Amino acid sequence: MFGAVSSRYQPLTLETMSAYVRSRPELAAVFNGDEPLETVEVGDGNLNLVFKVWAQADPQRTVVLKQALPYVRLVGDSWPLPTDRARIEAQALEIHGRLAPQHTPKVYFYDPDMYVIAMQNLNQHIIMRKGLIQGIRYPNFAEHIGLFMARTLSMTSDLVLDYRAKKMEVARFINPELCKITEDLIFTEPYRQHERNRYHPEIEPLVVALQADEPLRWEVAQLKEQFMTQAQSLVHGDLHTGSIMINQTDTVVIDPEFAFYGPMGFDVGAVIGNLLLNYAAQESRMADPDQRADFRRYLTDTIIQLWQVFVREFQPVWDQADVVNMPKAYQRDYMRRVLQDAAGFGACKMLRRVIGLAGVEDIRGIEDVHGKSVAASLAMNIATTMMKARHHITCIEEIVEIAVSSRSTV
Ligand code: ADP
Ligand code: MG
Repeated sequence: MFGAVSSRYQPLTLETMSAYVRSRPELAAVFNGDEPLETVEVGDGNLNLVFKVWAQADPQRTVVLKQALPYVRLVGDSWPLPTDRARIEAQALEIHGRLAPQHTPKVYFYDPDMYVIAMQNLNQHIIMRKGLIQGIRYPNFAEHIGLFMARTLSMTSDLVLDYRAKKMEVARFINPELCKITEDLIFTEPYRQHERNRYHPEIEPLVVALQADEPLRWEVAQLKEQFMTQAQSLVHGDLHTGSIMINQTDTVVIDPEFAFYGPMGFDVGAVIGNLLLNYAAQESRMADPDQRADFRRYLTDTIIQLWQVFVREFQPVWDQADVVNMPKAYQRDYMRRVLQDAAGFGACKMLRRVIGLAGVEDIRGIEDVHGKSVAASLAMNIATTMMKARHHITCIEEIVEIAVSSRSTV
């Protein structure tokens, strides 16, 4: 269906891992000869196989191997998906590693026959979503992610790349099947009755009202068109807090298999939208009002700061000789449009996580059903207001203001 799978391809298993690892010269500096290795499979990904391998004698000598299956891991072979996504991920990691090395896992190799990426095991980091759910703050995150997005998005745009190189890059990152997942799951299914939607019955009336909201659906249709047609930059394409591995000092972005040339605001909006989903979830997760207000201030300050860092780190591009003759007013308008796009795409990201197939643990993990509805309603209200206000947004504080003034309506 999606082109032939390599004849050398075989899904890795716990049994075949040691032999595979030993066959790779790129790992000779990590593991010695035929020393015993340990392997576990990591279970929390949706699409791929992920293994951790380490030397029995020294667990600090370790790598992660990620292998694409020709179908969606979570669903099985009834949902085929091209293994070419592993190539896309490897090539995106290579570019991210060049533009933002401190925020990208080190890659040892990409195996185009097995669709395997071998990379640094981020064993000192946790998935950011899990940390935020526990109420952990990450003081450097805004600085790190603002820099990551500014560098990866500005340096892959027409503002920087040569006209020909840019078009060749757009071609290299054509990613139709993964983009189709986004087009369906984010921009289409949440806004109609669909068997893949998932939400608990208590919020059914909210979902029905949302699906009947023509002005909202007009906005979503416009954002979908933009997603499908605007080859602005190499976007990560799935930059939620589950694709960020973090600790108190470090931030690393993983899993760019959805990468393609799309609108910058899609990535910026993904980060902001996911922080706001956690903001909404804390309504029911943090019982103590002072503690909750405090943590929410951390989240909203982070949103403001990451945008400020993004703008600051983008500035060197505007200062280049080639673009300096663009009117200052155009430059300001460009950044304002990225912000407005981020508001719209961020809102779409939030709504799909409440209504659509792939929910987020922040909200879906709330055990008390009423508490879950309260958080879901708040997330939906923040997102709906953001979506409808987006054309008038001129500064990041206005997005935060929408979140702070929104209320749950259940
Ligand atoms: P998928 O694309 O299938 O969702 P991910 O790339 O998100 O796979 O990886 C799934 C999980 O594997 C992550 O949530 C994380 O727990 C773990 N993981 C992935 N890459 C690494 C890494 N480099 N170091 C440590 N853990 C990782
Ligand atoms: Mg993935």
